Amino acid sequence: MAWDEECDVVVIGSGGGALVGALAAAKAGLKVILVEATDRFGGTTAYSGGGMWLPCNAALRRAGDDDTMEDAREYYRAVVGDRTPRAVQDAFLDNGAAMLDFLESDPHLEFAVYPWPDYYGKAPKARAGGRHIMPLNLTPEEIGALRDQLRPTLPVERLGEPLPEELVGGQALIGRLLLALKAQAGADLRLSTPFRDYVVEDGAVTGVVVGKDGAERRIRARKGVLAAAGGFERNGEMRARFGVPGELSGCVGAPGNMGRPIEAGIAIGADVDLMGEAWWSPGILHPDGTATFSLGLTGGIFVDANGERFANESAAYDRLGRDIIAAEAEGRLKRPFWMVYDDSTGGEPPVIFPTVPVGKAEDYVAAGYRKRGATLAELASEIGVTADRLEATVARYNGFCDAGRDEDFDRGGEPYDRFFMGEGGGSPLVPIRRGPFHAQAFSISDLGTKGGLKTDAKARVLRADGSVIPGLYAAGNTMAAVSGQTYPGGGNPIGSCAVFSWIAARDMAGTGA
Ligand SMILES: Cc1cc2nc3c(=O)[nH]c(=O)nc-3n(C[C@H](O)[C@H](O)[C@H](O)COP(=O)(O)OP(=O)(O)OC[C@H]3O[C@@H](n4cnc5c(N)ncnc54)[C@H](O)[C@@H]3O)c2cc1C
Repeated sequence: MAWDEECDVVVIGSGGGALVGALAAAKAGLKVILVEATDRFGGTTAYSGGGMWLPCNAALRRAGDDDTMEDAREYYRAVVGDRTPRAVQDAFLDNGAAMLDFLESDPHLEFAVYPWPDYYGKAPKARAGGRHIMPLNLTPEEIGALRDQLRPTLPVERLGEPLPEELVGGQALIGRLLLALKAQAGADLRLSTPFRDYVVEDGAVTGVVVGKDGAERRIRARKGVLAAAGGFERNGEMRARFGVPGELSGCVGAPGNMGRPIEAGIAIGADVDLMGEAWWSPGILHPDGTATFSLGLTGGIFVDANGERFANESAAYDRLGRDIIAAEAEGRLKRPFWMVYDDSTGGEPPVIFPTVPVGKAEDYVAAGYRKRGATLAELASEIGVTADRLEATVARYNGFCDAGRDEDFDRGGEPYDRFFMGEGGGSPLVPIRRGPFHAQAFSISDLGTKGGLKTDAKARVLRADGSVIPGLYAAGNTMAAVSGQTYPGGGNPIGSCAVFSWIAARDMAGTGA
């Protein structure tokens, strides 16, 4: 085999997990080459809140958290069930705190609790304060020129907004990890270097083929290759082939996430799982036809094609996304569907975090995505449902608001439902009474796909017969998600990506259990 260069570990991708894996390998004394397809580091992680769900970690402990691993395991099992192997679930749960200790041993990396309720508030041992931490903010001075290499936030990328002063959430996570990596002599991070293929010798992955400046290079990886390159959410052909609901226009995953490391894995015999799955959310529709991840719904109701409610509108976004997909599959919901609300927000939809800011009302009206009626009957004809039905739906809902209990969908019944209702968590049962009445169009949005290469508890990629493909590891959205068909709590995507990347690096370094 003719190699262009050699190292110990190749890391594919540069989201949070990939950078954690690269840092762990470099700190273990290994020579690491990290390849990122696009001209910016960070992937979807850079757009994100940067939160990580890691039970019983040091940052939680410092804040006085009294959770136990037994409770966390009971919760996780109750939510995820047997959809993914128990050993892989345990690897995630049992290594989170140690992975965070590793990160916090670096002077660039510090985390604090950001209370965020677990997403299944009625599951046993769910925590109202969550198990969720975030990186500390970073100033422009601290990151310096490295900021030019960091993928900016979605509002900057899509709307051309100015860069925010401070780096917060995912920006801070990627920024801090890049600073930590720049201090490692053994880590070589490369932009605009797309992974194309694995090199296989005697059944083992021994390196990769990457593109660089119009040519191909073969890089030998003596210890192994970690594929942590996101999902295939930006690849319309793969989405269609694997039956992922929704459209590219509703995807808020990063542009480079085309799924090549998953495709190349399938080609060398890797097994895959959960390929129709994504991290879901309702998506507010913008005039350009995109739908974006929307959380913090503090009023209004969603109605289906019959003018009836079909879900708890304040449920955690992935659960709500799954309700949308189910209602569509039942034939009772057509996209776009409508959020109906009254005038108490001055005509603006009651959504706290639409990911990309909502622009001028007239643009939404011109695009046909915002409707208005002096009465509910008028609004009903605007959104194509019968007046009687919409009036009856709103009257029933207002009755629940007056009684303080939603008998149909138990909106407000879990801590997460009340989380965005201000200090102390008021009820999200906000009546719809004050005209004129409004409707905003919604669709389904995804934060990225979560089906991918099947791994064991050491993040080693498996063949269909359960045997390991030596030399190949996967994490994050490149790996079939440990959380299966659920989103147990904020910070699961990045938290699990970081944990399995860390496990992979330790296995390659020979320092893992
Ligand atoms: C607004 C928003 C907020 C969110 N908040 C949170 C949160 O707080 N906590 C949480 O856990 N999750 C959050 N999520 C979800 C989370 O950000 C993603 O699921 C997660 O970051 C995915 O991580 P990843 O490492 O798998 O992929 P990514 O972070 O997307 O990184 C993948 C990288 O791999 C690169 N790549 C792809 N193909 C190749 C190739 N062939 N060669 C080289 N490089 C390649 C891509 O260009 C990309 O840079 C949020 C998402 C959004 C959109």
